Amino acid sequence: MPLSPALAAQLRAHRIPFVEDAALVKKTWWRVGGPADGYVEATELQTLITLQRVCTEQGVPLFVLGNASNLLISDAGIRGVVVRLTDQLADVHPEPGGSLRLGGGLKLISFLRRAGREGWTGLEMVAGVPGTVGGAVRMNAGTRLGEISDPLLEAGVVLPDGSVSVIGAEDLGLSYRSSRLPDGGIVAWARFSRGEHSPEESRRLVDEHLAYRARTQPTDVPTCGSTFRNPPGDHAGRLIEATGLKGFTIGAARVSPKHANFLVNLGGATASDLRRLIELIQERVAKAHGIDLEPEVQLVGDWGSGR
Ligand SMILES: Cc1cc2nc3c(=O)[nH]c(=O)nc-3n(C[C@H](O)[C@H](O)[C@H](O)COP(=O)(O)OP(=O)(O)OC[C@H]3O[C@@H](n4cnc5c(N)ncnc54)[C@H](O)[C@@H]3O)c2cc1C
Repeated sequence: MPLSPALAAQLRAHRIPFVEDAALVKKTWWRVGGPADGYVEATELQTLITLQRVCTEQGVPLFVLGNASNLLISDAGIRGVVVRLTDQLADVHPEPGGSLRLGGGLKLISFLRRAGREGWTGLEMVAGVPGTVGGAVRMNAGTRLGEISDPLLEAGVVLPDGSVSVIGAEDLGLSYRSSRLPDGGIVAWARFSRGEHSPEESRRLVDEHLAYRARTQPTDVPTCGSTFRNPPGDHAGRLIEATGLKGFTIGAARVSPKHANFLVNLGGATASDLRRLIELIQERVAKAHGIDLEPEVQLVGDWGSGR
């Protein structure tokens, strides 16, 4: 859908560049999904603040895209504006006292590469997680090495009225793969404590964990990582495998033969294929084990006409 002329006029008046009917598919890890009505790359804090305020005033939804590594965007796409944080909002600032302030748009994989070179430690637990700092805070991303909540001290969050709130980690409601950020809040930056490991130990932990992932997870095909949260005391992958769905395919969406909690796009899958596979898995697991699997991936966009 076209952006409302009033919003487009406001964006121009504030010199915020935007693209209409912007394709998102190549930005997503699953390589599926339709376009956004409007797309903005916010390169600095003031742009993000203005964009939040203007969208709120115009009643247009604003959705923040991280690295789209945990998103199933509908084939019909996202109504309203999608924003991505880049440049100054994806920076690294070592702070006096040893903490690190990381921009919300910073990709964790590039950060960890740089951390290895600079000797910064403390975020080993997100090794191999292909998200951004903001997406990782939102999801409380983690691995068997820990969760991002462990070193997180506070986050700078831009609220829908354009104000910026600095929220301590303890007030972000971080728990297993979830958070309670204020509604519509966008993490512009987050501050982390340095770790206790030596740089050498940190590099060893990261390398070992990456090798473990390469052995146990599909790494060469489009996926969104774990599709479902693990239910308490069990593993979603084990439950799915026990239903016999490993390798099962709908359209071009397949339950990975390597790890049943990973759904892969074999090439040309649609968001609807993936959604139908998600729902089929939920049905089969509920029937076989009496457990309701909850998606970890987020289904976003307009599903009304996209299925
Ligand atoms: C191959 C692969 C392996 C993975 N392995 C893991 C793993 O081991 N552990 C794990 O936890 N996850 C894993 N994931 C899932 C994913 O990488 C994480 O959930 C990650 O934190 C999502 O970050 P993102 O930037 O891609 O967010 P997106 O997928 O773009 O968005 C996810 C949610 O975060 C919100 N969001 C994004 N940026 C911001 C921001 N700045 N402020 C507020 N909200 C924001 C979005 O609006 C959306 O609601 C994996 C994914 C893939 C593809």
